[in-house]
Amino acid sequence: MKWLLVWCALLCSSSLLAQPRLVIVIDDIGYHQTDYRLLELKYPLTYAVIPHTTHSKAMAQAAMLKGRDVILHMPMESARRADLSKNALKVTMDRQQIEQMLDAAFADVPQAIGMNNHMGSYFTEQDQVMDWTLAYLGQRKLFFLDSKTTAKSTAARYASLHQVPLLTRQVFLDNDRSYAALDKQFKQALQLAKQHQQAIAIGHPYPETYQYLQKNLATIAKAGVQLVPLSALLPADYPLVRADQSLPLHAIVQTKPSPAEHNSELAKVSKPAEQELMTPAMAEQLILQQEQALNRDYVIPEWLNPLTLPAEQSPRVPLYKHYQPQQQPKPVTPPFFQLGRSHSR
Ligand SMILES: [Zn+2]
Repeated sequence: MKWLLVWCALLCSSSLLAQPRLVIVIDDIGYHQTDYRLLELKYPLTYAVIPHTTHSKAMAQAAMLKGRDVILHMPMESARRADLSKNALKVTMDRQQIEQMLDAAFADVPQAIGMNNHMGSYFTEQDQVMDWTLAYLGQRKLFFLDSKTTAKSTAARYASLHQVPLLTRQVFLDNDRSYAALDKQFKQALQLAKQHQQAIAIGHPYPETYQYLQKNLATIAKAGVQLVPLSALLPADYPLVRADQSLPLHAIVQTKPSPAEHNSELAKVSKPAEQELMTPAMAEQLILQQEQALNRDYVIPEWLNPLTLPAEQSPRVPLYKHYQPQQQPKPVTPPFFQLGRSHSR
């Protein structure tokens, strides 16, 4: 009897003391050759790839071949209602336009198992367009990570309505790229993970963030926290499906700009003085161009280049179950929908 009690106590304490888990998502992947450097870090980071960018296809493929989680980083209209690009979801779009944009974006990043928003502080506050967006993800059995660029996001409401698992970002690592600020945010992410058993932090492929992570990712385990891919926070019985394992809702519309168009767009943003207003999209493009100049000499290592990877390096076998839309959705408990809390409400 005594031993039984000891055994029970041990079992209970080990399950209660399960290691806290931390996810680090790197947004804005796809603009730079240097984004490949993040795959050289031998840790399960999650990669959020911007569709229709120079390296989106290759980077997503390389990440998948390395067994990392890939999600689509979908541009959405921001609070300043800036015209992000022709590939961004906008509140004035109708349902078919939104679905076609998403079809094209997922066709460009077919390795994606879910999606989060790039900007989107205006779009994600809306009802109708978010209803359509989450319905789309539900139909394709993909989940949503709310980057939480606004406290008034309606994502939870429509994720619940359409049976889409919702994860929420708690910490942005690099709004300020100084080492002290990165360190503060990184430690806050660790602390939140310990407090709530799990936390989601988002960073960007800035050189400062890369250098910080390279130096400090090893400290996560030392702090008693496990760094896990984003999919580890989904419900255990959730069937993980890649975008290329479900059908697009419409015929794919090619939205990638031609090289000539692309160059003319770049030329536009490189002359901000001619514009009346510096939009967030333009500011971001300028920052990206500066980084590109900084890191021009980086060469993708052979072992990361999806074009030269050996064939025997097999991709991760997805936990794919056939999509059966005729089935009744299972009743779902509340944690299924809201698997994290924003700390900045
Ligand atoms: Zn972004």
